[in-house]
Formats: sequence, C-alpha cells, structure tokens
Amino acid sequence: MHIALFSGTVPLPVTPPPDHDRTARRDVRLRGFAARADVEEVERFLAAKTAPLPAEPVALLACAGRVLAEDVSAAVSVPSFARSAMDGFAVRGEDTFGASSYDPVTLKVLGQTLPGRPFPGRVGAGEAVRIMTGAPIPDGADAVVMAEVCEERGDTVAITEAAPPHKNVGAIGEDIRAGDFVLRTGRRLRPQDAGLLASIGASRVLCHRRPRVQLVITGDELLPPGAKPSGARIVDSNSVVLRALVARDGGVALDCTPLPDRRDVVRLALQSSDADVILVSGGSSVGIEDHAPGLVTELGTLDFHGVAMRPSSPAGVGRIPRRHKEYAAATAPAPEEAFVFLLPGNPVSCLCAYEFFAGPVIRALGGRSRAWPHRRARLLLARKLASQIGRVDYVRVAIEDGRVIPLATSGASILSSTVRAAGCVIVPRGREGMAEGEEVEVLLYDEDWQ
Ligand code: AMP
Ligand code: MG
Repeated sequence: MHIALFSGTVPLPVTPPPDHDRTARRDVRLRGFAARADVEEVERFLAAKTAPLPAEPVALLACAGRVLAEDVSAAVSVPSFARSAMDGFAVRGEDTFGASSYDPVTLKVLGQTLPGRPFPGRVGAGEAVRIMTGAPIPDGADAVVMAEVCEERGDTVAITEAAPPHKNVGAIGEDIRAGDFVLRTGRRLRPQDAGLLASIGASRVLCHRRPRVQLVITGDELLPPGAKPSGARIVDSNSVVLRALVARDGGVALDCTPLPDRRDVVRLALQSSDADVILVSGGSSVGIEDHAPGLVTELGTLDFHGVAMRPSSPAGVGRIPRRHKEYAAATAPAPEEAFVFLLPGNPVSCLCAYEFFAGPVIRALGGRSRAWPHRRARLLLARKLASQIGRVDYVRVAIEDGRVIPLATSGASILSSTVRAAGCVIVPRGREGMAEGEEVEVLLYDEDWQ
C-alpha cells in the first residue's frame, strides 16, 4: 500500500528526528514517514560500506566480463620464436641486395617451413626455404621475401625485389615481452583480454567474486512470470526486470518465486539466504502488509527507510547478518553482512530504487565502477520539466527530433512508461524543475537514442 493513502489521516511529527537510526527503527506501518533521507546521503552511506568481494580463480573461458583481482604479467614472450609475416621465402637478407626484375637473384630452395612445422636445417649463403605466414624463421635466415616477387623454378627461386634483414619477420616478443604486465587489477576483462591471457598460456585468473543476489518478491496478488494475469492477480514483472539488471551489473541472481505477504514467510526468506545482496520487492512501505522494514530492523539494521525522491520514496536500505553456506566457504570468504534493499512494488519505483541504490552496490561488490552504466546524451528540453525542491526526480523521457520530452504518464505503476522512454533525466534535489530549452543529461536505456 502506499503512503499517500495514509498521509491525509495521520498527523506527522512537526520536528523530524535528527538521526536516521531513530527514524528507521520506528515501526512506520500505518504512520507514514517522519523524515526522508536524501538520495545523496544514502548513496554516500552505501559507498562507504561497499568494497569489492574477495577474489576467486576463474577459468580462462569464463573470464570475459569479469573483473580482474590481480596484476597479470607474462611468463613468456609472444611469439616465443621469430616468425614469418608473409608467405614467401626465408633468406639471408644480404643475399637479396640488388635484386630487381631486370636482374633477379637466384637462390637454392632447401625445403619448406610451415606453421608449427619448422624446417630442421640451416639457411646458408645462396640458399632459401619456402615459408608460410606464422612459420618459424629457419636458422641462418633473417628475412622473408614475399611470394609475389618470387618465381620458383625447379629447386631454385628467382627473387626480383630485395628483402633486407628483418623484413617480414615478426620478432620474438613483438606482441608481448616476457615479464611485461599485460593486465592490471580492477580491469573488466574484454573479449580480447581473455584472448591475450590465452596467448600467454594462462588457464585461469583471479577475479572478484560476483555478488550473489537473492530476490525476495512479495505480494499476495502476484503470479509467477510466465503465468497469465487473471482476476485480481497480476504477474510479477519486477523479478524479471531485476534479474536482467543484476546480470547487467555483474551479479548472479538466485532462483526465486513470489512470496505471500506473510511476516513469517518473508522472515524465513531473509534469514535463510546466503546472498551478498537481498532485493526485497514490494511490502516495503507503510501498509499493514509491509513487513520487510520491520523484519530488517528485527534481524539486522534498517539504515534508511524513506528517501526524498520520486518515484521510490518508500525505498529502504539495511543490512542483516549473512548466512554462510557451503558455497561461500568453498570459494572465497564472504562479508559478514548482506545488504538488503527494500524496493517498492510499483514497477517504476522498483526499477528506480534499484538504479539509485542496489545497482551501484552490486557493481562495486563485483569490482566494477559504481557509476550508472548508461550512456549519456546532452540534449535540449522540448518542454519544461516540473519537479519539487527537496527531492530527486527520476523522469522518464522520450527523445524526438533530438529534443527531450518528459513523458506525461509518469505514475510509478506505469511500467510501459519506461518502455516508451528513451531514457531518464534525474532532476537534482535543489531544482524546482527544468525549463524548456535547457540542456539536460539523459541517461539512455539503449546504446543510442537514434
Ligand atoms: P507494494 O509496494 O507491495 O505496496 O506494491 C505496490 C504496487 O506494486 C501494487 O500495485 C502491487 O500490486 C504492485 N507490485 C508489487 N509487486 C510487484 C511485482 N513483483 N511485479 C509487478 N507489480 C508489483
Ligand atoms: Mg505488496
């Protein structure tokens, strides 16, 4: 249920309590929020409490996208042998000096060298060995003449262009030199990084453990994703959105199924999880069915409940002791506490509270940057954008002809507003709104808005 239902009937204290702990520990059910924390305060708190999770070994084939937790240096040079950059003939470069189409140099062909199949002998003066790209340069040779300027006749080759020493030869270590640091800790491994690790002979690397994220989806009205909505029941869409956001942010979302609004059931879900992060959807506000805030207070600490923002004002943040299961013991030590995020059930609120609070923590636990991962575009507002001083607004916007249009249907229950939107604009706490024609920063939902 929503606070707005109650705020008219419930007198709020005139002076808000000075510290958030006292605010959080009150049972706010049916009383409304006495004071809301500022978004920045919550963000600062979370930033101070979050450090990357310990490292675990990750197999080479699974490491792309993971965050490196060690400096990696190369034990070998790549290539570790001098190799040909061309198909042609390996020669002693000095033998080819003066070669031209009028006056070709003729050398004796001793045999051939192929990738992975070196020529066993040595190239002496007046001699050549047929060579393919990637094959080792035979002993004695120091250059490769490309096939295009060679003509083989019987067991000789006529060369019509000089190839000075080193020509078309890839030197030992031209790609990577033994001892060089190739990747530094904190690096989010790109596909090509994983390839480079393969090339230096790595079979596994240490990466930050990915945060395990338990979704606790509450609501008597919810059917599991995949079901057809019927009667007074709706389909849980929040877990579908959250799961994808968690994956985007490098976390691992654990299995979940919607839970009824029963205190004992929600308590058990919170207590029995061994996750690093628990996302509670629904039941986070001040309705009689809203058990989560009280349970977090009971089991741990409810650090914040109620944030000066729209949507998501009933959002909350807390911590509860983490259950250590075999999983954690088997890999890397786990933090003592799990973060709990209370995400309002309204789909836009849920998305918004995730983006502001849970997303940065999940990314940071996995060693990534806390910053929002969206691409940004600076564009002009086509219409004025209303807000209120004292709260942060998360406004869905469309982009038409390169101008930003705040979407009118902006209720927190309208999930389709986020589907129609190209992105969102965040109106800071100190702004009453933004004027038509003002340049704003849009956080894009897609790679690009065109
Ligand atoms: P609550 O935060 O539990 O008071 O829920 C607020 C609104 O969000 C209600 O209309 C709920 O039916 C709706 N809601 C709650 N959980 C979900 C969910 N998982 N998926 C979609 N809508 C939800
Ligand atoms: Mg509910």
